[in-house]
Amino acid sequence: MSTLAERFQEIRQRIARTAGGRPVGLVAVGKTRPAADIAALAALGQRRFGENYVQEALAKMRELDAIGIDWHLIGPLQSNKCREVAEHFDWVETVDRAKLVPLLAKFRPADRPPLNVLIQVNVDDEASKSGVAPEAIAALAALIATEPHLKLRGLMAIPAPDPDMSRRRAAFARMRRLFEDVSRTYPDIDTLSMGMSEDFELAIAEGATLVRVGTALFGPRSP
Ligand SMILES: *Cc1c(COP(=O)(O)O)cnc(C)c1O
Repeated sequence: MSTLAERFQEIRQRIARTAGGRPVGLVAVGKTRPAADIAALAALGQRRFGENYVQEALAKMRELDAIGIDWHLIGPLQSNKCREVAEHFDWVETVDRAKLVPLLAKFRPADRPPLNVLIQVNVDDEASKSGVAPEAIAALAALIATEPHLKLRGLMAIPAPDPDMSRRRAAFARMRRLFEDVSRTYPDIDTLSMGMSEDFELAIAEGATLVRVGTALFGPRSP
């Protein structure tokens, strides 16, 4: 069994090797893991952590208050959670409808930097998945751009876990083209979040600037 430090080192090496000099960030996905695991990885130098469930994340934030962590919400966001999310997270990667935008903006405390926002895209057109259709990205981006308490940073996607890796790769490539489209209107955006434990190298090869890795760092999640 490898240690957390060894797995962390290995993941960082694989990211760097695939990125070939391009900066690619790592979000360590801590869902279902105790705060102690996050503290252990933070002590090794990891700063960005992703959480799927707001209540679970808030409990960890209270425990880990003193550690300088960048918290990313990567799970679905309900409108009745916008206040807690805007108050406590640094990034929301899953903005997928207009209704969330004024709520996040209204509740972002004025003494904190703007909340970093990614638009989640439904890149496979799966009826069951969250994320906006590609055609709806431009309107949502325009709405976010009107809010001084929010900062549009880019796009995020969770392509279907297709066993055919060439189809996954094609989905990552579609995301990259969508990201380039949005960049023409918003040249400051810098973040394309895609790729998880199984496929982060493919995602980087297709242009990801941020990957979200859970299992490959912390080991398998218990059900
Ligand atoms: C759980 C999760 C991850 C990490 O998945 P692993 O396969 O454990 O690396 C990444 N992104 C999102 C949105 C997730 O829900």
